[in-house]
Amino acid sequence: MLTNDELAKWDRENFLHPSTHLGQFARGEAPQRIVTGGEGVFITDRDGNRLLDGFAGLYCVNVGYGRKEIAEAIADQARELSYYHAYAGHGAEANITLAKMVMDRAPDHMARVYFGLGGSDANETNIKLVWYYNNILGRPEKKKIISRWRGYHGSGLMTGSLTGLELFHRKFDLPLAQVIHTEAPYYYRRPDLSLSEADFTAHCVERLEALIAAEGAGTIAAFIGEPVLGTGGIVPPPAGYWPAIRKVLDRHDILLIADEVVTGFGRLGAMFGSDHFGMRPDLITCAKGLTSAYAPLSASIVGQRMWEVLVEGTDEHGVLGHGWTYSAHPIGAAAGIANLKLIDELGLVRNAGETGAYLVASMREAVGAHAHVGEVRGEGMLCAVELVAERENRRFFEPAEGKGAKVVAAMLKRGVITRAMPQGDIIGFAPPLCLSRAEADQIVAVTRDAIAEVLG
Ligand code: PLP
Repeated sequence: MLTNDELAKWDRENFLHPSTHLGQFARGEAPQRIVTGGEGVFITDRDGNRLLDGFAGLYCVNVGYGRKEIAEAIADQARELSYYHAYAGHGAEANITLAKMVMDRAPDHMARVYFGLGGSDANETNIKLVWYYNNILGRPEKKKIISRWRGYHGSGLMTGSLTGLELFHRKFDLPLAQVIHTEAPYYYRRPDLSLSEADFTAHCVERLEALIAAEGAGTIAAFIGEPVLGTGGIVPPPAGYWPAIRKVLDRHDILLIADEVVTGFGRLGAMFGSDHFGMRPDLITCAKGLTSAYAPLSASIVGQRMWEVLVEGTDEHGVLGHGWTYSAHPIGAAAGIANLKLIDELGLVRNAGETGAYLVASMREAVGAHAHVGEVRGEGMLCAVELVAERENRRFFEPAEGKGAKVVAAMLKRGVITRAMPQGDIIGFAPPLCLSRAEADQIVAVTRDAIAEVLG
């Protein structure tokens, strides 16, 4: 076995890590962690640390680490049929079974599921299907996609454009011209503090209407949004937001894509966030929770009205020119089947709702009154603590002070992993859905102590 020193050196000399400060990492100035194992909500590293993972990897290890049932399903599938493609009507028992399981759980009006590898490619698929749909309907000018500032939809060319966070655009020549952004439904940061939640929903609707009027409804194909803003700050929508947005979209014949990469398969205490918030989407994007990240797999779930047009399109123009070599990979599908079974058997959707509510309430009680905590918010097994320089005027800390990152580092020292969200000083929590109340208590106690250490 390699020594820690050798591995650490190879890592710094060879590995271009995603979402990493490359220069600092290569020079040994940025931290490095070599992870060796995981069990339940804990991971272990080569230095012998055992850490409570309060972010489930990247909000994806929903059933927790070390589930033998999934590992065995993967091994059995690899022995029996490691791979066959899914083009031209080819299937395997695993991907056909998973398609049935996904459709049994999806909202009623959904018709078919396409499998890819990750959230970014599933969103790319959905945008291509939207464009194809409008071309088949004979309206080639209806192509723009509306996304929200602070939305996160991936980091490819189109998906990085949809993402409404500066870090993912700067120096990449993004966003692409077909993407436009509208206001984030971020009640805590509403433009006028006298607005009620209902007023703020009306304000977001107004902004959307104004954007559609300015661009022309005939040029806009779809609106994409996460049920709860995730990487943009873990922000649940204000009351009535989704039904109100849906109404506007219906009026202008604009499709709705629900990006449920984080929320799909239970994280909000409902199988889908679309049902939880009454979104009635035309397309749903899923990834992470589909396999709990035991293998890469994503799903683009297509609604009935879109499905009918896709069928019409291939009847007129032949085979759908879209697919990846690894679409519906049997090993990913086997992981997905075992994962969805476990979610049911362990009652994890219910636990996400109940223990998630307990986590948010305990967090609010522990740190909600702190002079530098502006808001504690959450939905299901998602929680955020927003730090501010001044509570009264909600003033941000100077970004260069890195207060969020400092609190997260202070938590890590105490054995709990959380995430400093990329815009603002927001501490994000998205633990595995199997979190217990005792583990929630540990997260809350460590958060309280870390905030006290960094902010007094
Ligand atoms: N959509 C949402 C809502 C996400 O949170 C993410 C990733 O965090 C993505 C899409 C992109 O998924 P991936 O990183 O698997 O490409």
